[in-house]
Amino acid sequence: MTTHKLLLLPGDGIGPEVFAEVEKVAAFLGQAGIVRFEMERGLVGGAAYDAHGQSISDADMQLAHEADAVLFGAVGGPKWDSVPYDVRPEAGLLRLRKDLELFANLRPAICYPALADASSLKREIVEDLDIMIVRELTGGVYFGEPKQIIDLGNGQKRGIDTQVYDTYEIERIGRVAFELARKRKNKVTSSEKRNVMKSGVLWNEVMTALHKREFADVQLDHQLADSLGMQLVRWPKQFDVIVTDNLFGDMLSDVASMLTGSLGMLPSASLGETNPKTGKRKAMYEPVHGSAPDIAGKGIANPIAMIGSLGMALRYSFNLASAADMIEKAIAGVLDKGLRTADIKGAATSTVSTVEMGDAIIAELRKGA
Ligand code: NAD
Repeated sequence: MTTHKLLLLPGDGIGPEVFAEVEKVAAFLGQAGIVRFEMERGLVGGAAYDAHGQSISDADMQLAHEADAVLFGAVGGPKWDSVPYDVRPEAGLLRLRKDLELFANLRPAICYPALADASSLKREIVEDLDIMIVRELTGGVYFGEPKQIIDLGNGQKRGIDTQVYDTYEIERIGRVAFELARKRKNKVTSSEKRNVMKSGVLWNEVMTALHKREFADVQLDHQLADSLGMQLVRWPKQFDVIVTDNLFGDMLSDVASMLTGSLGMLPSASLGETNPKTGKRKAMYEPVHGSAPDIAGKGIANPIAMIGSLGMALRYSFNLASAADMIEKAIAGVLDKGLRTADIKGAATSTVSTVEMGDAIIAELRKGA
């Protein structure tokens, strides 16, 4: 059995609480002989700032570079609101994404039937929903230069952000989307605003050419980003994989996340380029939610997004799809039994704690192992 190197970065707030549960799941998988992990532990966010005045240390960054995957909890909280900008907790997350060149952000939006009533949309629209949003994460308007505020000297100022995409950036995110689609329902919807943006025209051209050249077996549709936003809430089940740029992906993935009910349910993956020599790619897995200071320390956080993030690591970094399926089945199993943390309580009469939810998922895993 191959040993996989995992760097654990629990972070702040509810990060360490949900992390304790995912570590129990990882230990179970090890004991059951399903996967063997070699784990290192580091500090990120406010916890790292308190320890050494940085949001992530160079030593921990080195561990991140050496790991096969990074498992990340959450960072931030009011305690660090007034620390200098470049060492604020979120800077640790941005440094990890930037230094590891994690250009592809994968956010699945899955609606478990047992939770369909927790969505703001009608049950029939979201029940059994399973879509994947692939967002370009390191380019586009968030990073393009010039990026500045100019004083025009006449009492006016001008704010400038620049949307820039090169062919290679569009091709590599496109490849991630098409390859994912081949393992799913074989359909990609590419989204931009080619009607008003030059970068959108290029995005559309490059995706079309890449599709023709390398992925003609996959169905490709193009949809303007505003229209796609509308379709996501009208009939989301028409989509399989959606690929889009950094800005539109930021917004559309948040819209998609709310289709599924709660932030506490949503895992994510951020992937880098595959190294042609080793066949491995840098990767970080984290829940979509933040450090939830309002409930931190109360033992009531939902650990499912964190545990689902380990499931994504098994699928996308370690090629262990059957183990990832086991985790998803175990999560569906506890939900079917009516177990709920407070955030997904719905009509349930009682709720379970973070630890009880983790234990229940392990009990389900044990049944399936
Ligand atoms: P948040 O995701 O932390 O919380 C939003 C709401 O969802 C809160 O009411 C919270 O209690 C609830 N919630 C989130 N996760 C939950 C879970 N697992 N179980 C139950 N309920 C859950 O977002 P926020 O309140 O906007 O931000 C709080 C802090 O987290 C800020 O410092 C922010 O900068 C940081 N943040 C970090 C990340 C990250 O680490 N990736 C992401 C978003 C926000």
